[in-house]
Amino acid sequence: MNFSKQTKELIRQQTGEWDLAAKNYGGLRKVKVKTIDFGDYNIDIQFNPERIVSSAAKVDARSIQARPCFLCQKNLPSQQRWLSFDNEYLVLVNPFPIFPEHLTIPNVIHTDQRIIGSFGRMLDLAAKLDDFVIFYNGPKCGASAPDHLHFQAGNKGFLPIEFDFSNGKCCREVRRTGSVTISHWPDYQRGIITLNGNDKTALVDCFNQIYAKLQILQPNEAEPMLNILATFKNGEWIIHIFPRTLHRPAQYFETGDKQIVLSPAAVDMGGVLITPREEDFIKISKEDVIGIFEQVCLGQILCSL
Ligand SMILES: [Zn+2]
Repeated sequence: MNFSKQTKELIRQQTGEWDLAAKNYGGLRKVKVKTIDFGDYNIDIQFNPERIVSSAAKVDARSIQARPCFLCQKNLPSQQRWLSFDNEYLVLVNPFPIFPEHLTIPNVIHTDQRIIGSFGRMLDLAAKLDDFVIFYNGPKCGASAPDHLHFQAGNKGFLPIEFDFSNGKCCREVRRTGSVTISHWPDYQRGIITLNGNDKTALVDCFNQIYAKLQILQPNEAEPMLNILATFKNGEWIIHIFPRTLHRPAQYFETGDKQIVLSPAAVDMGGVLITPREEDFIKISKEDVIGIFEQVCLGQILCSL
């Protein structure tokens, strides 16, 4: 059995034997979804009350220091089992799922969430877990454990951006550098830089160059704010980079009717916005979605630099 199939087997086992996972994966069948039509593409809104733990997570330094790290092996729930990825990462079932198959993949060492130096490993994970989309949330862009290096993964076929990339209606190839093709997404609300190619070293080099440019725009950040999605198919990686400007939109901090509790991360950037409160799910409009993306994304013009 290959690693991806072994992982699916782990999910099947854990949702059978671990009450919290069983409850929350069972509950996923009842989450409500609505689709907002943008013409050439759609955005899904998912009402998912269990995700309040992530959407409302306190990620300031004091709150983080005050809690035991939930991604350190010694603190994992007793029912949690894992597969080892090269003795470097643990492949875990995420007990608060968005995807029907949802993984958390922490490093075995408690070290800060940073992509530089680990992007190549993200590509290795995508190749090994080729039934999944691997994603990375920067320490200020949706990671609920900014102090512990980790990725997440969800089954393929769930995020609208996967179809939108393959049908080619919204993205445009802008250049090739060696074996790497770079595409942009005009009129897709989010600024995105997409890389694809079959040469891991060339992709890592290209990513490092983009990272360096983004770092100039945000010199005071520990790393340029971003989310990343990566998949592997037929020998090629597809990587979507979402440069960010803000962790949470203004609506998050409003009160009363104006408030929308939505804390965008890689899944939202991929086209599934998570609302843990039903009132937000009901009222969120196309204009709200456009406004939220405008606030939290760097935008296509700057992404094109
Ligand atoms: Zn930790």
